Amino acid sequence: MASAYELTRDELTGLLAGEPKYRVDQIWQGIWEQDRFPEEITTISKALREKLTAELPLALEVANDVSTDEGTTRKWVYRLHDGYTIETVLMNYEDRVTVCISTQAGCAMGCTFCATGQAGFSRQLTLGEVVEQVVRAGRAAAPRRISNIVFMGMGEPLANYDVTVGTIRALHHERGLSARNLTVSTVGIAPAIERLALEGLPLTLAISLHVANDAERDELIPINKRYNLERLYQACEVWRNETGRRISFEWALISGVNDTDQALYELAEYARPLGAHVNLIPLNPTPGYLVIGSPASRVRYFRDELEELGVNATVRRTRGRTIDAACGQLANVTNGKRRSIPVR
Ligand code: SAH
Ligand code: SF4
Repeated sequence: MASAYELTRDELTGLLAGEPKYRVDQIWQGIWEQDRFPEEITTISKALREKLTAELPLALEVANDVSTDEGTTRKWVYRLHDGYTIETVLMNYEDRVTVCISTQAGCAMGCTFCATGQAGFSRQLTLGEVVEQVVRAGRAAAPRRISNIVFMGMGEPLANYDVTVGTIRALHHERGLSARNLTVSTVGIAPAIERLALEGLPLTLAISLHVANDAERDELIPINKRYNLERLYQACEVWRNETGRRISFEWALISGVNDTDQALYELAEYARPLGAHVNLIPLNPTPGYLVIGSPASRVRYFRDELEELGVNATVRRTRGRTIDAACGQLANVTNGKRRSIPVR
């Protein structure tokens, strides 16, 4: 069954056969411009609202809703119709409102330092399930408007390619979000990066690099065995040539693992010729990876040295750690138990 947020306007028109055209407009505006759920669109009759609600059900049910950082970071755990859970994080900054969304329940990539990877893959999310995360966050953020979306929640967005691109198009066309403010973060699925480069969307691409030598990247990020650093580099060049846009490399600093001087030089060698920007963040703790993030002084040292070596780098501030809402901490956890089976 379709859900409210995966219908095209034509499909809605089909569903409302026999109704005047302005009715379709009213409903479309209610859904997309006023952030209303179908049952709340009071400009249409009750009978029609009931029909819409029955035929276009919502896809997400709130299972948990927690805040931290003095209320500026909020995380929702949503239960899907089949019992799986996913998570969305809303971050209010002074100058922007960012939502971090999930594209899969779990993740099949198995990165060792990531709670989502540790929990394994449950299933792909549908377009409706991804878009509804943004709509719900938008309702919570009001009267402020969401300005930025990052595909950095649970899952690998480029392993759910059509839904990721469909979501970007829907947010861009229907919610008027500028593609420039949309960031897709990928572990580095090289062919999908090359395909995305041809979509004509001025997105920001973030690549979770973390290690710039194959032997160690194979260990931390198993997909590196399929698409190694050389293959990834080719994809980065395609991205640059096709889009003219700069790539960001994500680098979660892990004490004694990828915060050494050697790691620094490897990163600089890899990033400099691509003109890539590096985002540094200390590793956030996860239950399945008993290594800790680098101290703040080491993170700053890394940034300063990268700049010296001609690579642009910024330090990202971590949000949401106390509610397990920070990067890499999202997982199917209920009552302290990690689940890879549906939670009913
Ligand atoms: N699958 C995609 C997007 C989701 S992960 C990807 O891997 O890019 C979002 C970001 O969190 C990625 O940059 C990922 O490498 C990072 N991350 C994962 N575990 C982390 C941890 N424990 N601490 C800090 N960042 C982490
Ligand atoms: Fe998946 Fe990204 Fe976590 Fe790797 S870091 S397991 S790709 S969500």
